[in-house]
Amino acid sequence: MNYNHDSRLTTHDSRPPTNDSRLTTHEFRSWVEIDLDAYQHNFKALADRISPQTRIMQIVKADAYGHGALEIARTALDYGAAFLGVANADEGALLRYYGIKEPILILSPSLLSEIPYILENSLMPTISDHEFASALNELASKNYPVHLNIDTGMGRSGAELSQANELYELCKSLPNINIQGIFTHFAAAENDQEYSQFQISLFQKFLDSLPELPEYIHSANSSAIINLTDSPGNLVRFGALTYGFYTDNSQRNVIDLQPVLKFKSRISQIKTARKGDYIGYNLTYKCKHDLNYAIIPVGYADGYDYLLSNLGKVLHKKAILPVIGKVSMDMIAIDLTATLNAQAGDEITLLGKSPNLRVEDVSALYKGSPYELLCQTGRRAPRFFYKEDELISTAPLLRREFVSSDYNDAKLNRIIEAAMQQRMQGSQIADFVYQDILKNIFSDQDNNVHFRHDFQHSIDFSIADDPAKQDYWLTRTSLSFRKILSADSFCIACANNEDNLNKYFLEPDVEYRWLLDESLALSPDSFQLISARINDIELYSSTRIVNNCLEITCYHEKLEKLIDQEVTFEIKTLTWYPRSFHQLTVYITGITHKLDIEFTYPASLQMENIIPILAGKNKFPQLMQTPTSTSLSSPHWLFPSSGIIFVYYLQPE
Ligand SMILES: *Cc1c(COP(=O)(O)O)cnc(C)c1O
Repeated sequence: MNYNHDSRLTTHDSRPPTNDSRLTTHEFRSWVEIDLDAYQHNFKALADRISPQTRIMQIVKADAYGHGALEIARTALDYGAAFLGVANADEGALLRYYGIKEPILILSPSLLSEIPYILENSLMPTISDHEFASALNELASKNYPVHLNIDTGMGRSGAELSQANELYELCKSLPNINIQGIFTHFAAAENDQEYSQFQISLFQKFLDSLPELPEYIHSANSSAIINLTDSPGNLVRFGALTYGFYTDNSQRNVIDLQPVLKFKSRISQIKTARKGDYIGYNLTYKCKHDLNYAIIPVGYADGYDYLLSNLGKVLHKKAILPVIGKVSMDMIAIDLTATLNAQAGDEITLLGKSPNLRVEDVSALYKGSPYELLCQTGRRAPRFFYKEDELISTAPLLRREFVSSDYNDAKLNRIIEAAMQQRMQGSQIADFVYQDILKNIFSDQDNNVHFRHDFQHSIDFSIADDPAKQDYWLTRTSLSFRKILSADSFCIACANNEDNLNKYFLEPDVEYRWLLDESLALSPDSFQLISARINDIELYSSTRIVNNCLEITCYHEKLEKLIDQEVTFEIKTLTWYPRSFHQLTVYITGITHKLDIEFTYPASLQMENIIPILAGKNKFPQLMQTPTSTSLSSPHWLFPSSGIIFVYYLQPE
């Protein structure tokens, strides 16, 4: 494989080009592993405890408690969850952006200003007051589904009980609102039976007072499924327990939960301290004896809580080692006394499955919350998702994703600029940028983007029979792609200087452009359309010279009926390419999905370099070479101004 890239590009990216964008954990300072089998185990263990008629809502707020909302949502839906629960409209919109179609409930109260966004993304808001209900009714179309939240003693969001009936009546009277569900939330399902029973009775009393019940009633969070088996409802909200941590020690004997998340890092440095030396900020750890210790490149900025200073425990091979000194922003120190043969690069587990490393155990060291510790974990870490011990997907380091409507040129330029600089440094960032550009093209603009699908382009050089054309390759080109037809004719342009041709790059009706050698006359002798077809229709063509360009208009009266439909274009031409040239460039002028380019030539032509200037997901397309051909393909989206330069020389005969 002889890609030519300049040396700045090669220094970082010495891996062979690959279409497999999955990464390995080896390259990272810290990373999170998500065990979807453990998640499935927990999901089933909980689902086994509810009636088969009861529906399940998987709560994926806060990026699924730090586990990755998209993968958890997909997995939950696979296992039979009927609903997803998120904290706000942004979280819901992101799932919609990724194509999740199932009902999504926003659990927290939304702002009035978020209503259009909620409607656009078909999210279900929770209603807690009159004002929101009325405003929603104004903007929603008929029977928009909502859930009412009733505060039975949580003292957080939800309608106060004294106003709950009034809110119910109001919502019933509003034509555009359909109460699909009513719910309440427990303040202490995991450890306060008495208070929870009090909440249950208030909720039950409210439900009994209603003239009719909506389709769904729900109250149980995941702890309630274990601790409050009589909580009312035909829908339950799966949260904490599905992520594999106990919210109360009493649950350990009742249900087997497996931690889903592991947080890992590596030893970055090994050091020795003498008796009396201090480790870390503010001299909080003084060595009682000589010791070896290691620096781990994870600190509170990575989510390893500051309160774990002098308290944290980590795992190296089979040894549990203490954190010594304060947790800094970017590092911790661990005492290596209890382990053998520690080396820089060794894996360290900060959160995981072994008893001392479960998130409930680690957060208990500082009397913290396991919920919080999970949510903050791995802020600088990519995530790796495993199913049946296979890596099935990854979420990038820069996974702070958003669906933005405030793109402007300056912002987009910054993104592209950053992409250019960063592409060589990591496929992750390129991936992120690629997603962002696609997002800009498809979701933030209207969806009226005309792109080409399955773009196939072949170019064939052969030796000319005509003695007058000995200085040229006889060149056959063939092009095919699918596209939405926008008019009953299109144009093919051929110019013999670049300036003249450039004008045609911006013309939407020009489907193909060719640059002819300057010494050749603009005439059908030097550039000939062999055939132009749309679907199976052979098109008529007419050729004229306009603005020093050969313009071939292709048309057929049958095309009119195909306008706005996706059709297959096929264009074949015959022309001449100077033998004295040493390169051939193929450009992609529009957004293109899936690309195949094939260049064939006599064996005397030696391919020296293939320079991809592809703006898309991968820098390198797949490449296949034989002595007389080079082909490239990319299964992904490619952006305009992409191309390939073939550089070759001729062997002397
Ligand atoms: C977060 C949340 C849940 C999930 O609770 P867990 O304790 O994690 O099971 C359920 N319902 C509501 C309203 C929530 O906000």
